[in-house]
Parts: sequence; C-alpha cells; structure tokens
Amino acid sequence: MSYIEPAPIHKDHDNPLESMMSRFDYAAQILGLDQETYNVLKNPARQVIVSLPVTMDDGKIRVFEGFRVIHSTILGPSKGGIRFDMAVNLNEVKALAAWMTWKCAVVDIPYGGAKGGITCDPRSMSKGEIERLMRAYTGAMYDVFGPDKDIPAPDMGTGPNEMAWLMDEYSKMQGMTVNAVVTGKPLVLGGSLGRVEATGRGVMVSALSAMQKLKMNPSKTTAAVQGFGNVGANTAKLLEERGVKVCAISDVSGAYWNSNGIDIVDALAYKDAHAGLLEGYAKAEKMGHGDAILTCKVDLLVPAAKEDVITHDNAPHIQARLIVEGANGPTNAGADDIINSKGIMVVPDILANAGGVTVSYFEWVQNRLGYKWPLERVNRRSDRIMKESFERVYATSQQYNVPMRIAAYIVAIDKVAKTYKYRGGF
Ligand code: NAD
Repeated sequence: MSYIEPAPIHKDHDNPLESMMSRFDYAAQILGLDQETYNVLKNPARQVIVSLPVTMDDGKIRVFEGFRVIHSTILGPSKGGIRFDMAVNLNEVKALAAWMTWKCAVVDIPYGGAKGGITCDPRSMSKGEIERLMRAYTGAMYDVFGPDKDIPAPDMGTGPNEMAWLMDEYSKMQGMTVNAVVTGKPLVLGGSLGRVEATGRGVMVSALSAMQKLKMNPSKTTAAVQGFGNVGANTAKLLEERGVKVCAISDVSGAYWNSNGIDIVDALAYKDAHAGLLEGYAKAEKMGHGDAILTCKVDLLVPAAKEDVITHDNAPHIQARLIVEGANGPTNAGADDIINSKGIMVVPDILANAGGVTVSYFEWVQNRLGYKWPLERVNRRSDRIMKESFERVYATSQQYNVPMRIAAYIVAIDKVAKTYKYRGGF
C-alpha cells in the first residue's frame, strides 16, 4: 500500500504553490517513492529567519524580517533568488525553495534548491535604505551563503544592484573578492553574457522542440505571448526570429492583436519609449480584455506574465495546441485535466523557464574559472541543455504515458531521490 495520499489533482488549488505540491505528490506516487525519501524531499533541509535592524533615512531604526530556506542540498549547493515584497512569508519561501530543487534537477545542473526573502516594500524605500537592508541581510546570512553552500540570485523586487551589494558585503567579511557567491550580478562584476535573455531563449528552445514533436512548422505557426517583460518580450522576439508569427502580445495595460503578425522589435521600441508599457500601441488592435489573449485563435500560447492565469474557467476555451510556460505557475492544477483532455501539449514551467537558472549556473562556473565565456558559447551550451532536458522529459512522458508536466516532476524527483540513496542519506 502506498503511504502517499492520492494527489487531489481534480481540485482547484488556492495558489500556484499548492498546485505545484499536488503535482509533486502525483509524480511521487507514479514513481512509487518510499515514505522515507518522500518525507526527506518534501521537507526543507534548513530554515533561517533573521531580524534586520536598518537605519532609515530619517535616522530611525526599523526592523525587517528576513528568510532563507534551503530546501535541498542533495544535488549540490543550493540555488535560488531573493525576493523583496510585502507578501514574503516563511511558507511562501519554503514552497519556492522546493520549486528551485525540481527546476535544477529537471535540467540536470548540480544544484539544490533554496529561496530567500525580506518582508519589505522596496518601492517605498530609498536606494540607500535598500543597500543597508541588503548588507544587513548578507551579514545575517553569512554562515548560510557561500559559493559551495548556497548561492543566491535576484527574484521579484531585486536585481543586479542588490546582488552587487551582497557580493561586496560577503567579500568584505571573507577578506577577499568572492564573486561566485551570487549570480545575476552586473556584467562588470562577473555577470554572464546572455543572462538577460536566457529565460526567454530557453522558452523558445522548448517551444521549437515541442513543435517538432507535434509536427508544427514554425513558419506556419501563430503564437500569443502573455506578458511583455523580460521573459515574454525575449520569447516573442526569438520566436519571431525563427519564423513564428506572433499575432498577440500583452502586458498590464491590455492585450494587442494583429492577424498579420506583430513586429516585435517595433513593439519593444514602442514600449521603451512609453514608460515600459504597450498602452496605445497602434499597430495592433486592442483586445476586449487582457485575458482574452489566453483564448485567442493561435497555435502556440506562452503565458509569461504571472502565476495562476490558466484556470478551470478559461481552460475549456483555449484554442492553442501547445502551451509553453514562461511564467512560474501560470496554470492552476484545476485546469490540468481540462487541458489534457483537449489534447493540448504543455511544456511545464520547471522545464520551459529553466534557461534562466541554467545561465546563472554558467555565471557561477565562469566566476570559479576566473574566465569569461563569449555569448556564442553561453547560448550554445544553454540551448543544448534545454533541448536535452526537453527530450528527457518527453521520453519520460511517453514511458509513463503521462503529460509533460508530471513527466518533468518524475525526472526531477527520480534524480534527487537516486542521488540521495547513493549518498546514503545526508
Ligand atoms: P517582468 O516584470 O519583467 O515582466 C512581467 C510582464 O508581465 C510585464 O510586461 C507586465 O506588464 C506583465 N503583466 C503583469 N500582469 C499581467 C497581466 N495580468 N496580464 C498580462 N500581462 C501582465 O517579469 P519577468 O522576469 O518577465 O517574469 C515573468 C514570469 O516569469 C514570472 O512568473 C517569473 O517568476 C517567471 N520567471 C522569470 C525568470 C527570469 O529570468 N526573469 C525566470 C524564470 C521564471
């Protein structure tokens, strides 16, 4: 008898992290994972909570709460971003850390999973306040971080500046420059070429690999891309370069349609000239409402904006044959059955958007080598990893006769579980 309760995959889950855990349970069940290993993989290895007193610009001291959760170090040092947001809490950070474990395992890079965060509103803070907060966090996490232990990166609300302060503070405490302690750094501090486009590039490689399986010719394929930020815009541009006709794009201002295809470079220039938004873009027609992009008549749908946008309400109306998840958790578990019954192939988030963490890994490798790779090498190697990972997950989906999403979890869990067994526990 299985120790693991049947996964409640038919239920609509409250949030993407619950959705993720239900799929994890389902995959663990198919793999026949024993209860001991299941417990090890489900529970985080380490959880650290710190109080961070910071002198604000008005001279008063404010205390912030900071978290770092190491979900797993079975495959190697843990890897995961640092989030600055008012909604950050221990439970969320725990789930996001587990997500990183599966993402690294599915693309076979030698990292475990982690996530960090500080409950704060960076938009209401000055640059100086954010710098002092980041340095306080780094000091408090000094014994957690390390190039061979735990390697942070940017996430929501943080970027290259915060990573530079982290690297500087950690290096001061070590008495030497240690740039491999963090990734997502500015280029001059040891950041990698190709990191900015890496996630979108991986989404494009995943989409083309899936199209090959479905015998879809890129130059006869139409696409809709939700979200026009780092992931969405780069995906749209790279798909267009490979002959795909991108008929619909969207951002917070709404969704835009042109059946002749949207010139993505032109739309990007428009966005850059208009406060980062597509609002008023006249070379495409504005759709009735933003979410209409999910159900418009295209062959390929790329949700690349935010979590939980494809639900059991809109899933029945999706017309695309292929969904490639650029965002994390865009599909609610409640929509899975509907999508599967319609015969739509989904390349899941933990596979499709893993190009970002892959090039973060390359940044770390380059830092440790004390060497810089040309862009061509970064792209070639990340394309190869994405393609091989896709083929591995596809073969697993055929072997177990399960959707690609469950296959991705099977690949990830199997890898971590086998490594754990060889290591004889941890
Ligand atoms: P971003 O902030 O650069 O862009 C987000 C885009 O989505 C913006 O264009 C915004 O206007 C748009 N958007 C927000 N709400 C929307 C809505 N309701 N409808 C349509 N568009 C909406 O963020 P990003 O870095 O591109 O990340 C997007 C998603 O990809 C997130 O889920 C993120 O976790 C995931 N992701 C990002 C990376 C990365 O390397 N940046 C890596 C893996 C996963």
